[in-house]
Amino acid sequence: MAVVGNGSGVGPAEVDVVVVGAGFSGLYLLHRLRQHGFSAKVFDAAGDVGGTWYWNRYPGARCDVPTTDYAYSFDPELEREWTWSEKYATQPEILAYLGHVADRYDLRRDIQFSTRVESAVWDESASRWCVRTDHGDEITCRAYVMASGCLSLPKTPDIEGANRFRGEIYFTGKWPHDVIDFTGKRVAVIGTGSSGIQSIPLIAAAADQLTVFQRTPNFSIPAGNGPAPAERLAALAADRDAYREAAKTSPTGVPGEVTELSAIAAPEEVRRERFEAAWEAGELFAIGTVFGDLLFNQASNEIVAEMIREKIRSIVVDPDTAETLCPKDYPFATKRPCLDTGYFQTFNLPHVRLVDLRKHAIVTVTETGIDTADESFEFDAIVYATGFDAMTGPLVSVDITGRQGVTLREKWADGPSTYLGLTTTGFPNFFTITGPGSPSVLSNMVVSIEQHVDWVVDCHDDLRAKNFETIEPTPLAEAGWSQHVADCAAITLYPTANSWYMGANVPGKPRIFMPYIGGVGVYREKCDEVAAKGYEGFRTLAGSGP
Ligand code: FAD
Ligand code: NAP
Repeated sequence: MAVVGNGSGVGPAEVDVVVVGAGFSGLYLLHRLRQHGFSAKVFDAAGDVGGTWYWNRYPGARCDVPTTDYAYSFDPELEREWTWSEKYATQPEILAYLGHVADRYDLRRDIQFSTRVESAVWDESASRWCVRTDHGDEITCRAYVMASGCLSLPKTPDIEGANRFRGEIYFTGKWPHDVIDFTGKRVAVIGTGSSGIQSIPLIAAAADQLTVFQRTPNFSIPAGNGPAPAERLAALAADRDAYREAAKTSPTGVPGEVTELSAIAAPEEVRRERFEAAWEAGELFAIGTVFGDLLFNQASNEIVAEMIREKIRSIVVDPDTAETLCPKDYPFATKRPCLDTGYFQTFNLPHVRLVDLRKHAIVTVTETGIDTADESFEFDAIVYATGFDAMTGPLVSVDITGRQGVTLREKWADGPSTYLGLTTTGFPNFFTITGPGSPSVLSNMVVSIEQHVDWVVDCHDDLRAKNFETIEPTPLAEAGWSQHVADCAAITLYPTANSWYMGANVPGKPRIFMPYIGGVGVYREKCDEVAAKGYEGFRTLAGSGP
């Protein structure tokens, strides 16, 4: 439809849709928009495509959903021509896959890299968004989509003295492109979430000394990495369409057993057998759903939590270290559990030490290391594996201004509220991919991303066909959905943990359980129903012509 300019002074260029982000979401969105005849421009702060897989280059970075499932399914040809080498592919392999996708569908020509979107302002009179970047680009569009990721804004270290350290500093979420060699070095890792747990064994393998600073221990199960699981490959080979359909209608976005079996009601041998099978399978969704009441019943949850603690105690030789590594103050799976390769074994190595920050809090980072309340440590490098301002962070870090000059940051000051996790009142023609209020981070995200993108593009198609210029949820629909999201969370154990799902990892962030727990299949049905009923819960306004 329109041509894109770049701040050359001839007035803003115009496209149908501006997209922020060129990860799994933005790439597929661009492809689908083009297929439907919409013009689009994508911006990404990264130097190339990949999103998460562009930034998180730390040693050991891999997916934790099997790669048979953590991949696009929209094009059977693409599936046929790409073979994953492992059950859990490495970051370089996933990045290569997304590069291949960008080439295959000729996507890069509409993506501007190394460019951060700083603001987007709704122009009421023109019914257009005006988007500005840190390079001075100005571009107007009918619709504005944040495909900016849930885990794309690394948390600024909230640790005293963090900027004083004169040695090497690394963030897992913004890892350098050069090979980092820790050989012969004294290294500190702060944080024991998924990124810490993946990187610690590899950093330990190279470093002269490794000190791990742990605030909260995490539940982790062995990935059992190797070739892609034979049963999943066989199911795909037998009937690919049925397999992909099962993923779409499943609770998690990965086909698997759905059981109602209660852990407390099950006989001990059944519990043990099911647990051991899930442990051996090395799949997070398998162990997270090994009993139907795990996330609803504290006593059931404790049964599985204790079985994992037994495993930790059986691996870690020093009993004190083992106890420190055992999570005890939140239910299993209410903080994102991890998949590891030799994580707990790493603490048996003589040059690896665990510091329990609950007992020995960090007082300050110094020029040469870290001081805890009772010890001074000297390091050559500090690795921050301290996580992200998740879900809302990337959205409110852009100045998005909707009707009546209200910004998204102001609207969400007490926590996000959305309709379907896709839209929010006061911000017409504004969409989020895997936004708060969608299953996103509780699911296999690629399945959720494809569903969101399909819904958003189909919505654009419908609006165009009916000559509607704007779409925006009604306050009532948004309030209803937000209440439903909160109600679903409230009947589970999730809100009892200080997790990033709750915003608890970022000081001052409102405590609200952000993702939708209802499940991928249920959520999809709801979205389809809304569209089938002529966008129930939305206000659509007619335009003056296409
Ligand atoms: P991202 O991949 O995060 O891409 C968003 C892009 O938007 C980024 O490149 C960013 O630079 C850009 N951006 C954001 N704001 C701006 C701005 N203002 N201006 C310009 N550009 C901007 N999920 C799973 O389901 N399974 C897994 O195994 C899994 N493993 C993960 C491993 C790691 C290390 C991490 C951090 C996350 C993992 N996730 C996993 C979640 C992962 O984020 C999603 O699976 C998926 O990659 C998200 O894709 P996306 O395109 O929505 O967002
Ligand atoms: P995270 O899960 O939030 O872990 C951050 C860690 O840093 C936690 O242990 C946290 O402790 C600690 N921490 C934060 N601030 C601290 C401070 N000021 N002082 C001391 N410790 C501090 O972040 P992440 O590991 O990057 O993972 C985020 C999410 O990304 C994961 O949950 C997952 O969804 C995804 N991911 C997936 C994979 C994968 O396996 N495919 C790998 C990496 C990431 P507290 O728990 O006490 O806050």
